[in-house]
Amino acid sequence: MQEKEIICISCPLGCHLKVTGRRGQDITVTGNQCIRGEIYGKEEFLAPTRIVTAVVRTNSAKYPYVPVKTDRPVIRARIPELLRELYRIKTSIPIQCGDVIIENYDETEVKVICTRSISE
Ligand code: SF4
Repeated sequence: MQEKEIICISCPLGCHLKVTGRRGQDITVTGNQCIRGEIYGKEEFLAPTRIVTAVVRTNSAKYPYVPVKTDRPVIRARIPELLRELYRIKTSIPIQCGDVIIENYDETEVKVICTRSISE
């Protein structure tokens, strides 16, 4: 039996959740004030994910980096590998906010998109 304490980030209340259980068996969440906390607690317990933000190099001397983010959460264990790939990329300006840098990261259907427009 495993036990994990997690702060729910689904709303500003930040309930302190206690998640108990084992993979493949029943998972119990306590400390939540709503169903979203139960769902979040179970997801964090079984497969924690995060939206990834980073920067990608550009071909511009004036604006050498453009900020990017994933369009959905990525399994935490895969984040270092994604960051390594992003740091290898060099993109060209002009760039529009929302331009796609990676269309389908490693067959996960995760997109990496620019979060800023840059034109020289
Ligand atoms: S459990 Fe519900 S009320 Fe508590 S932080 Fe999460 S979303 Fe907010």
